[in-house]
Amino acid sequence: MPRIVLATHNPHKVEEFQAIVAEVRPDLDVVAYDGPEPVEDGVTFAANALIKARAAAAHTGLPALADDSGIAVDVLGGSPGVFSAYWAGHKKDSTANLELLLDQLSDVADPHRTAQFVSVIALVRSNGTEETIEGRWPGRLAMQPAGPGGFGYDPIFVPDGQPADAERTVGEWSSAEKNASSHRSRAFVALAPLLESL
Ligand code: IMP
Repeated sequence: MPRIVLATHNPHKVEEFQAIVAEVRPDLDVVAYDGPEPVEDGVTFAANALIKARAAAAHTGLPALADDSGIAVDVLGGSPGVFSAYWAGHKKDSTANLELLLDQLSDVADPHRTAQFVSVIALVRSNGTEETIEGRWPGRLAMQPAGPGGFGYDPIFVPDGQPADAERTVGEWSSAEKNASSHRSRAFVALAPLLESL
């Protein structure tokens, strides 16, 4: 069975990736990377995704995939962006992160609360060639968190395209619903044809 290593230590992302890969390439065995973590000192999603994928490919000799992702809020000029994981400090406390973001936007009315989840997936092949692909998931930030599901900013992100009288945050979506629409799945769908040649 052909193998590919997934360069993330985030168990939520491993689950999401395995579900998404199973849809597109069920014959591909996705193994989680457990080697040393590189310093993510890039200032773009693409740079950080490449840093992670290159480290996993070099350590394992397998083709590697890595995602770097975050939330980009329009009135904040695209922040938190690459700082999403530690917006409230290097403890990487996701509740503190979303509370700080809600506090910063407390006077911003609904039509101006537009944001996007962004994911850039990097693929580094065994022969050293590289690709990056971006997926974006547009929506708005809720006034307060809702829902037990997902991780990170899911409880405050309301994706576009829902009926106006029944809008829910991603925290209230099932994981299957999220995987069908998310920024990571959008990037992955664009990347899927590249996996065929591995
Ligand atoms: P990374 O693991 O370095 O890519 O950091 C991603 C950070 O962005 C996470 O810690 C979350 O705060 C946020 N994030 C990325 N994707 C999602 C998602 O699907 N839902 C909620 N938050 C996300």
